[in-house]
Amino acid sequence: MYDILFKNAWIADGSGEPLYKACVAVKDGRIAKIGQLCGEEAAKVIELTEDQVLCPGFFDVHTHNDMMPFFDPNMTPQVLQGVTFDLSGNCGQSMYPVSEKPEYVNMLKKYTGALAPLDHIPVWPQLTTFAKYKAARDSMKPRIRLGNWMGQGSIRIAVMGMDSRRATPEELEKMKAMVREGMENGALGLSTGLLYMPGVFTPEDEIVELAKVAAEYGGVYATHMRDEGDRVVEAVEEAIRIAKASGCKLLISHHKVSGKQNAGKQKITLGLMDKARAEGMTVMCDQYPFNYGSTTLAAIFPPKYQTEGNEVLLAKVKDPATRELIKHDIETDTSFENMLLSAGPEGILIILGLFDQKYDGKNVAEISEELGVSPAEAVCRVFEDNNGVVLMAQRICDEEIVDEIWLHPFTAGGSDGIGAGYMPKTHPRAYSSFVKIFQDYVRERRIMSLEEAVRRVTSLPAGFLGFKDMGLVKEGNLADLVVFNKNTIGSKASFKDPLVKPTGIDYVFVGGELVVKDEQIV
Ligand SMILES: [Zn+2]
Repeated sequence: MYDILFKNAWIADGSGEPLYKACVAVKDGRIAKIGQLCGEEAAKVIELTEDQVLCPGFFDVHTHNDMMPFFDPNMTPQVLQGVTFDLSGNCGQSMYPVSEKPEYVNMLKKYTGALAPLDHIPVWPQLTTFAKYKAARDSMKPRIRLGNWMGQGSIRIAVMGMDSRRATPEELEKMKAMVREGMENGALGLSTGLLYMPGVFTPEDEIVELAKVAAEYGGVYATHMRDEGDRVVEAVEEAIRIAKASGCKLLISHHKVSGKQNAGKQKITLGLMDKARAEGMTVMCDQYPFNYGSTTLAAIFPPKYQTEGNEVLLAKVKDPATRELIKHDIETDTSFENMLLSAGPEGILIILGLFDQKYDGKNVAEISEELGVSPAEAVCRVFEDNNGVVLMAQRICDEEIVDEIWLHPFTAGGSDGIGAGYMPKTHPRAYSSFVKIFQDYVRERRIMSLEEAVRRVTSLPAGFLGFKDMGLVKEGNLADLVVFNKNTIGSKASFKDPLVKPTGIDYVFVGGELVVKDEQIV
């Protein structure tokens, strides 16, 4: 007798091949048999309708959910979308290993604190190794499968703080040992965030040395590149060089080409990745289905005002003379990734002010008109009224560019979800990226087949990561399965109302265990 029998299922098996109809039997957490099994017995029989599709659980290869299991072991925002594998520690910013030096612990908290409520996770300061993190996390009994990168920024902070200099040979050995400790204990590779300090200070050869350790274990180099705008092509070239020199597989994170002036460069970057693949490298990128990114409002200001942290930046914005200089810079300076100029005032949307919510849901053009001030002054007002803690969404590029990157056959799904589950508002990508792929690309705009969309979020990432028994509906594979309704899968989440739950996810099973039924966690 089987544990579960799905009867008359339309199966999108993850390979991209056309849907076919069959019965699927599950036993002991794995797919036991696929075929004409109508007469078989099972503890639980699920008769599927013509509108329902059975497919492998979705892989989210880009998250910052290292700490989510500590306050939400259900991994609610993920599992409600059908995600059964969450890969966190991205952009160099893993929340481990925590240094034993108090001043470095504080730096790690500043580096990653916007991504998780670290002060409310008592065990966090003790997570001095990846093994300790993993043991503590697993003790929370998370309901989906989790994978992790070793964050290069976090490792550098643990060894040398925020020093903007080359590592000494001794420091480099310490960092390599940390990567090795992670890989020995099941980490999947090294991530970087080269746009952020201390990634900004890290020379390419240092990254290669760390990535070589990950490569010994078949690991991945996953990178939020140094630049996603004017120098995006050079940044992809650097990522490929690092992967080649180290022997790692390469994952380019949340791939985009920001700024109107750079439209079209995606053809070059995707071409570079194709060329690397043709030369034998294993290369993929991930993307979320939005043409708006999200970060803190501070990112609008030139880096030169930010070197001493957010409090000092706030003081500078409040100082009348410096404020004039800052405003002049954000109106004219193109020597940094100037978001106010590239997105335009209507393309900077305030999602959440932590101290004053009157600006939430409005863009900078609207705020400047309401206040009767320039857009640059409006940015300063929002920033100071919220003591410098503001989450924004910024327009990155036209939707056509997002589409073109998504349509490339080696682009996988990655939500980049931040703050879901503990912040009152966040970018809607956290709660809707995966269902939106099926709603927007497959059903409404019909730019991709359902089977291909399933492949991008299942066998493509599973194969890239080297998982032999995941990502396909296949006999012997783990029974991580999703049943969705192809007519209703989707989300009404918006920037004004981002935490709306997805629709159309009828069942989610992880290892044969039921986690979601009829859009609700069970
Ligand atoms: Zn990133």
